Amino acid sequence: MSFAMDGRNVRLGIASDGFNPFGNMSNSYSMWPVFVVPYNLPPWKCMKDPFFMMSLLIPGPKAPGNDIDVYLQPLISELKELWDVGVSTYDAASGQNFCLRAAVLWTINDFPAYGNLSGWSTKGKLACPSCNKDTSNKWLKHGNKTVYMRHRRFLPLNHKWRDSKPLIAR
Ligand SMILES: [Zn+2]
Repeated sequence: MSFAMDGRNVRLGIASDGFNPFGNMSNSYSMWPVFVVPYNLPPWKCMKDPFFMMSLLIPGPKAPGNDIDVYLQPLISELKELWDVGVSTYDAASGQNFCLRAAVLWTINDFPAYGNLSGWSTKGKLACPSCNKDTSNKWLKHGNKTVYMRHRRFLPLNHKWRDSKPLIAR
């Protein structure tokens, strides 16, 4: 049976971000929880804490950065098994076992964490994951940083903002 045919199959979101459990008192401690959120629930329930599943809690003196993939490996392999094979699960409504499968719909992150989790660098010349290798970037010699301009290229060719001088001055 296809995944979508069975409403009992679970649709998941994965959310992760770092925080400091000691607030501003200590900057040498970091905590990275990784939450798995089921989206089969009604919208007003799926973002409530009783339905969050904390799959990982990564403590350390600093954020795991790109090494987060090492910690995520057991979760990824279980998610792959849930997608490819599924697990036998008891359905209380029918009183029978069935093969439960799961799919990850999306991940929820801020932009730097998205960089760590996706493997796409969200810094430097090609920082935009959507524009990919066509990211419009410019190095500011005196500002000493990369900036991302030319966003009006996404507007229709005849859009009035394309040749709006006051916008350039601002
Ligand atoms: Zn872009």
